[in-house]
Amino acid sequence: MSTSAPSPLNTSPDSDSATVGTVTDALVAANQRYAATFTDPGMDARPVRRVAVVACMDARIDLHAALGLELGDCHTIRNAGGVVTDDVIRSLTISQRALGTRSVVLIHHTDWGLLSLTEDFRHEEDFRHEIEEEVDQRPAWEVETFRDLDADVRQSMQRVRTSPFLPHTE
Ligand SMILES: [Zn+2]
Repeated sequence: MSTSAPSPLNTSPDSDSATVGTVTDALVAANQRYAATFTDPGMDARPVRRVAVVACMDARIDLHAALGLELGDCHTIRNAGGVVTDDVIRSLTISQRALGTRSVVLIHHTDWGLLSLTEDFRHEEDFRHEIEEEVDQRPAWEVETFRDLDADVRQSMQRVRTSPFLPHTE
């Protein structure tokens, strides 16, 4: 993973920028240690529990622990808010049609970043407008902020249930 823009997260091994001691270096080093002792557990790519979980990216959520899941049990699809976007539908479609999952679980939670974002910006259009002002380009995506957690979960459920691409919508 690398980007053309200069970034402290540039992972290009040829990069001569000052990346010594970055978090990326730490992760690469950890992965080298992991790979040195890794043995293929011989798992099937198809999730054992035949479920796809859509959840928020919140760093505090240990999804497997929270749901009693083991490695290999499920697909996890995470983004800001655990919102069912077109790209989540893309992943769910592949999950169901190519990799055998049969159910979808949506995990939204209280006390999280986008709720405070909603307080900072009266409307998500303000947030997008501020970005546009700064970079001269309007985001093609919606921020998907929300105030009402229950309503947001219902909307995400509705997006799964009404998707024409998903054979399994429960
Ligand atoms: Zn969250």
